[in-house]
Amino acid sequence: MTEQSHAFAHFVAGRFVEGADAFEVLNPATERVIGAVPEADHALVDEAVAAAKAAQVAWARQPANTRAAPLRAMAKAVREQLPRLARIVAEEQGKLLPLAEMEVFVAAEYLDYMAEWGRRIEGEIISSDRPGEHMFLFRKPMGVVGAILPWNFPFFMVVRKVAPALITGNAIVVKPSEETPYSAHAFAEIAAASGLADGLFNLVNGRGRSTGEALVGHRDIDMISFTGSSVAGSAIMARASQNLTKVNLELGGKAPAIVLNDANVDLAVGVLKASKALNSGQACNCAERIYVQSGVADEFQEKLAAAMGTITFGDPLGEAPVDMGPLINRAAVDRISDLIEDARIKGAQVLAGGVAEERGGGFHYQATMLANTTDDMGVMTRELFGPVLMVNTIADLDEGIARANDSEYGLTSSIFTNDLNATMKAISELRFGETYVNRENFEAIQGFHAGVRKSGIGGTDGKHGLYEYTHTHVAYIQS
Ligand code: NAD
Repeated sequence: MTEQSHAFAHFVAGRFVEGADAFEVLNPATERVIGAVPEADHALVDEAVAAAKAAQVAWARQPANTRAAPLRAMAKAVREQLPRLARIVAEEQGKLLPLAEMEVFVAAEYLDYMAEWGRRIEGEIISSDRPGEHMFLFRKPMGVVGAILPWNFPFFMVVRKVAPALITGNAIVVKPSEETPYSAHAFAEIAAASGLADGLFNLVNGRGRSTGEALVGHRDIDMISFTGSSVAGSAIMARASQNLTKVNLELGGKAPAIVLNDANVDLAVGVLKASKALNSGQACNCAERIYVQSGVADEFQEKLAAAMGTITFGDPLGEAPVDMGPLINRAAVDRISDLIEDARIKGAQVLAGGVAEERGGGFHYQATMLANTTDDMGVMTRELFGPVLMVNTIADLDEGIARANDSEYGLTSSIFTNDLNATMKAISELRFGETYVNRENFEAIQGFHAGVRKSGIGGTDGKHGLYEYTHTHVAYIQS
């Protein structure tokens, strides 16, 4: 594939706004430059927020089902343009084309799902202590939402913020990741043609420390919806606190997987291997720590090491088919290499992979499995966000749960067992926002994806995710 140079701009108040190139975007599989991106300064962020604020009032007055119409139009356009959009995602983020197609397809489903909420947003009637009084609880839009996105699902993430924000009556200003701005730009083209009034959706490009901070610190922003690392989440929360702006934070994970003696070992091996090949392990919910019970530990370890060793990798858009693409950038390769080297020095055994590779350019790292890891190693405590698994042996479920819970993160977890009692005990004692039982690590549109501890505040998807974009308003009416 030959990368093309994309024309690029911000989208503010219904217009595409060009600017001087500020940074380059690379295809991470080849390191070839895809294009250059302008950076929104404070003035342009101001303009975008002002446009959103001006447009939001009339938008909130519309019946929610009327607000669904542009979302449905966007869903239709996303489906019609799926091959083109998937190629943009694959090229700038480095994921395999079928996964990019799935990402774009799910984005269309998400827009339609949130559009359906147009007829389902409900308040409450509360019984009063006073004779003749009526109490009503309304759900109202927050106002102007600032959304800051990561790069790992760059098209879906835009939709995951925009759809619930708009259907509940908010306007939104989106800042995509500086690594993957083209997917958001392609979405802006779709939004521009959807019939959505000017100012309701705005896109400002730039780095976190400049454009991102300007957005977070803006006094006319009513809510920051952020998905990204826990470190950035903490900085964003600190800055948002200056205006006491509401934050919704979807942060990092260090997901444990518990495999018990009665588990279907082949199923567990297949699922865990697939979750590491998927997006090169760059998903917030894929397992990073495995705790396998002693009765099946040898069999499991041997089979998983063999399976990890079969994962082929390279340029997803190259001539030869591969199971896995690259990591997002050089810093990711360096971070993983350093943590694995540290683990090796401290006595970990590398049973598969463990090497960064050039592969004709690009940020490639072998699918890797480590054993004999201990909790003083960074690989066991820090989010790796790559194709690396650590396998530890446990005596029983209690030890598995205790070790799984022993983490700063609390996003997702999984257990492989056919024992219903063990399953229920794990679900009640695991301190995470999500647990997958005998299955892979994808959350559902209608679920609620939320982490505890350093994995976040609030959540996304489904009814509960929708209501994150609202505040309550209680009216007391004395008759
Ligand atoms: P990141 O935190 O480096 O960057 C995310 C976004 O924040 C980018 O747009 C960046 O420009 C911006 N940013 C960074 N510092 C900022 C600041 N001080 N002020 C304002 N904006 C700032 O994360 P990333 O590398 O893009 O994404 C990977 C991370 O995202 C991983 O930790 C992963 O677990 C997490 N993630 C979480 C979920 C979830 O649902 N919980 C989903 C996907 C990714």
